[in-house]
Amino acid sequence: MRILVVEDERGLRDGLVDLFTGDGHTVEAAADGAQGVEAGLATPFDVVVLDLMLPRLDGVEVCRRLRAARPGMPILMLTARGSEDDKVRGLGEGADDYVTKPFSARELLARVRALGRRAPAEVPEQLDVDGVVLDFARLTAERDGARTSLTPREVGILRWLHRHRDRVVSRAELLEQVFGQRGDLHTRAVDMAIAVLRKKVERDPAAPRLVVSVKGAGYAWGAG
Ligand code: CA
Repeated sequence: MRILVVEDERGLRDGLVDLFTGDGHTVEAAADGAQGVEAGLATPFDVVVLDLMLPRLDGVEVCRRLRAARPGMPILMLTARGSEDDKVRGLGEGADDYVTKPFSARELLARVRALGRRAPAEVPEQLDVDGVVLDFARLTAERDGARTSLTPREVGILRWLHRHRDRVVSRAELLEQVFGQRGDLHTRAVDMAIAVLRKKVERDPAAPRLVVSVKGAGYAWGAG
């Protein structure tokens, strides 16, 4: 694979280059956000590993610009635990995956390989499913001419389920990836958020067709 690493911390950048090179990939490195955008616009990569906190342009802005030019290019964001996580996830910004620092080399490699294996990511801004038009950019859902606004977190849930529509997503995963929290203690919050979301997007919230429950496992994108 061709991997672009955008990280300003020199030690970490060199470490990442070594890690991916050692795994058999071709790696290009950029030391700030502007360089990262330049490299990502110049040629496509199979995976971009993007630090959130960067000089000149931060990771969110780099992500936005690369997304606009190359919607299918997978982006994995590196964040620090805590407020950075909340910031990037709360924005519902379009990274395909997140890894929180400090991370293990093994975990990062596994995630990068998984992203690179996938068919080019489809990142629709609008989806028309089961009679409802979901607009992820405008944060709205429209059915039968009636428009409801969605919160960034609700859009985050829908995006995450749609992006991983080939499998079941656990409550803990939604909690970590969309809510920016870890642990099994608060998964009830996910159920409550999904109950509210269903009232907005489902024709019959009691018999959901978009956000489907999978008993004992979590939730799945049900609209095909
Ligand atoms: Ca940084």
